[in-house]
Amino acid sequence: MIKKFLKRVFRKSHKIKTVGNAQVIPFELHGVAREQISYGAQKVTDGLQAAGFQAYVVGGAVRDLLLERTPKDFDVATDATPEEVRRVFRRSRIIGRRFRLVHVMFGEEVVEVSTYRRMIDAEDAQTDEHGRLLRDNEFGDQEQDAARRDFTANALFYDPATQEIYDYHRGYADTRDHLLRIIGDPQVRYREDPVRMLRAVRLSAKLGIRLDAATAAPIAEMKELLGNVPEARLLDEVLKMLLSGHSVECIQQLHRMNLHHGLLPLLDVILEQPMGEKFVMLALRNTDERLGQDKPVSPAFLFAALLWHEVLAAWNILVQQGERPVGAMHTAMDEVLAKQKKKLAIPHRYDAVMKEIWLLQQRFEQRAGQRPFRLLEQPRFRAAFDFLLLRCASGEVDDELGLWWDEFQDAGAERQKEMLQPEGAGDKKRRRRKPRKKPEAGAAGEPVSQ
Ligand code: ATP
Ligand code: MG
Repeated sequence: MIKKFLKRVFRKSHKIKTVGNAQVIPFELHGVAREQISYGAQKVTDGLQAAGFQAYVVGGAVRDLLLERTPKDFDVATDATPEEVRRVFRRSRIIGRRFRLVHVMFGEEVVEVSTYRRMIDAEDAQTDEHGRLLRDNEFGDQEQDAARRDFTANALFYDPATQEIYDYHRGYADTRDHLLRIIGDPQVRYREDPVRMLRAVRLSAKLGIRLDAATAAPIAEMKELLGNVPEARLLDEVLKMLLSGHSVECIQQLHRMNLHHGLLPLLDVILEQPMGEKFVMLALRNTDERLGQDKPVSPAFLFAALLWHEVLAAWNILVQQGERPVGAMHTAMDEVLAKQKKKLAIPHRYDAVMKEIWLLQQRFEQRAGQRPFRLLEQPRFRAAFDFLLLRCASGEVDDELGLWWDEFQDAGAERQKEMLQPEGAGDKKRRRRKPRKKPEAGAAGEPVSQ
């Protein structure tokens, strides 16, 4: 109580200044110290300021620090042009075509530096027939740069030298109130860039903050606009959701906002497989946990999980039609990938790993002779085993199988020998197959590394 009172008195004694249209929040109010900024971002802002430019930490990092979260990375905004930034830092390079940015390298850390941009006036703006901005790459000043950003919490500029925050859109108050609010008229902003609707969902879920009512309201009626966004960009955003460490909350939020249906094929697959829903949600929860523990996760593993029950369904049909299990698996994989490729835009580069994870599943059943030892040597064993555990947890296969492999992989030679099942028991001994006409790699002709 007293502490609260003192805090209020203390706060009052630290007035918010106004500079132009910005409110300047002092350190004594917001409490974000220079030391909380990464080494690289401090170096970049110091270097640019010493060269006579403005330079601020901006975007997600300031927001995350205010919310007492660890920022993923630090971005810097400046009035220097990319060429000017490039001249200040020897280890830097200009990237990007649509809008050029500079990456400044400090050992492992890469600081992204962007020049202030402005939103192009309505009459000069290039938009598609739905009002989507096709170009927003004009240089501007800090105030204009704030206005073109999406949410008030994402438009705060932090100066590590003075420890002040420049705020043009009441983003400080919103962030303190745990509110995600879009800058400007929500409808106009969603029309300019429909992906902002998904960003609203992702950021509010990830940060555990509320979506402002006016920001949320138009989404239901405007969601169709997502259909005009290039697929690669949508996939990018969906991947960010799935790999945000809060994928389960994101999916739940999408459900609540009725954003999940018919727009993003990848999400349909996730949310509309009755059989696989439990498995998919387990996979997502598992991914969230791994990210929470700073463990690596791979998009290929996640895609493999998302499509697993489709593959299983196709496989079952083929086996019922009399195909042998392994051959049927190859056919099922190729069918599902070919079908989903058109719909989901899953890049080809993930195919090989997804197939390996799927194919190895059948080999877990074989626990006699040399086969389990050969499986352990597979480079993809670990991922395939993690996948098997998910299948156990979802009730698709017996827990006993997962437990057996859990023990077997770490057991000593003696114990391993004891654990082996007799040939012919449990798993049928493989009959010699007649040579096939088609190569095992399947119709696509892509090699499947085994
Ligand atoms: P994350 O923690 O996921 O990185 P972020 O807010 O930093 O969240 P980025 O995609 O890294 O997201 O974008 C950096 C900044 O660029 C944002 O904080 C925001 O100010 C601005 N921004 C990004 N995407 C948009 C968009 N679609 N429209 C307007 N501004 C955007
Ligand atoms: Mg970011």
